[in-house]
Amino acid sequence: MAFRKRFVTKYLNPLEVDAEIDAIAAEFPGLCSLETLPLLSHGYQGERAEARGQHPTRVLRITAPGGAAEKPAILLMRSHHAREWINALAVVETARQLTENFRPGDADPLVKGLTGMLERVEIIIVPESNPDGARLSFFDAGRRMWRKNLRQPDAGACPGVDCNRNFPQFFGEAGSSSSPCAETYHGPRPLSEPEARNIATLAERQRNIVFAIDSHSHGQAIFRPSPGGGQFVTSEPVSAADDAIYRHLEERMNATISGIQGARYETGSTSNHAGTTDEFLFFVHRVFAFDLECGLDFQPPEADAVLAALEVAEATKALGLCAAGATGLDVSALLARRRELEFDATEAVADDADARSAPWEIEPLAEEHWRRFRARLAPLAGAAGWATDPASSATFTPSPAKGQVRLTREGHKGGAKRCRE
Ligand SMILES: [Zn+2]
Repeated sequence: MAFRKRFVTKYLNPLEVDAEIDAIAAEFPGLCSLETLPLLSHGYQGERAEARGQHPTRVLRITAPGGAAEKPAILLMRSHHAREWINALAVVETARQLTENFRPGDADPLVKGLTGMLERVEIIIVPESNPDGARLSFFDAGRRMWRKNLRQPDAGACPGVDCNRNFPQFFGEAGSSSSPCAETYHGPRPLSEPEARNIATLAERQRNIVFAIDSHSHGQAIFRPSPGGGQFVTSEPVSAADDAIYRHLEERMNATISGIQGARYETGSTSNHAGTTDEFLFFVHRVFAFDLECGLDFQPPEADAVLAALEVAEATKALGLCAAGATGLDVSALLARRRELEFDATEAVADDADARSAPWEIEPLAEEHWRRFRARLAPLAGAAGWATDPASSATFTPSPAKGQVRLTREGHKGGAKRCRE
């Protein structure tokens, strides 16, 4: 039987997404399991009565029975951004394709590929990572373009935090805001939001996740983390080997995305990354994570949204095949690295705060391929004239005479076009 796709045909509100996820789990109990992450959302109290209350972050796991005790996993999550409606379609379409096409013994090559992949890989889907915000965007008059969660405001302030600026890596840097009324408000502290903390918990518990897609819209782009953007250069190492893996994954995703409507997604990174999921997942957890910006609008015509959702499904399956070892990557090495990784997100945040409060001495280290250079930051007392304004963005210019790197204030690096939505 031919490979089946195009299961979703129209926008799904958050209640319909929940019902679809329940239906898939019920129809395919041998492949699926459902669970919820520890923290409930702040709560929705809007116009749709049956949608009110606090809500869990749900997780749908899809894998074939049997196989290795620890299968490598792909994480696919619907973005934290409420107004990005395409991505609810993307997660449901993906879940349907994975379950409806698992058919051992079928001769169709695409079915065979998917069936073999699910025998070796687990797909972990977070169908709604901001349940309150999505409800507000769908159900409340005049709120379709709501982006944030529904954190209650302090007196006189605005509600909501941009959960995709609430993660510890690069928290508070360029591309996020400390103003509660801003669309990119990063929240009072890293991981202050239950929605972000749930994803962090999933990453901590689930050491078998090797690749991840945070499915956003829009822009037809696959963004990866970059250590050289934002205001401050990080000291996190990124090896040439990791860069090669990122390129491998990007090429595999684009090769199959292009089969939907001929689009080739832009790859690279952006300047406005600060506390996002992909950077947290890679720099803290060494999960090769992407911010995938599908489609060309937040809520395009349904026919276009369906095509974009199909592209996300293709990208996810492509990563699944990579994790299954079908494309030559040494996935066992990636799993071993994750298992051995020691991390402490809280400590990393404290370090960042210290660094930001003082001028820095910056020691240039070896240049690397996809970053400007490695640098080590340390407070430098009494260094007048060195930029220390945390509200500015900055780039670094090597200063060989001093054996140091001078911090200069500039605008965002990179082209103005590139933007994580
Ligand atoms: Zn987004």
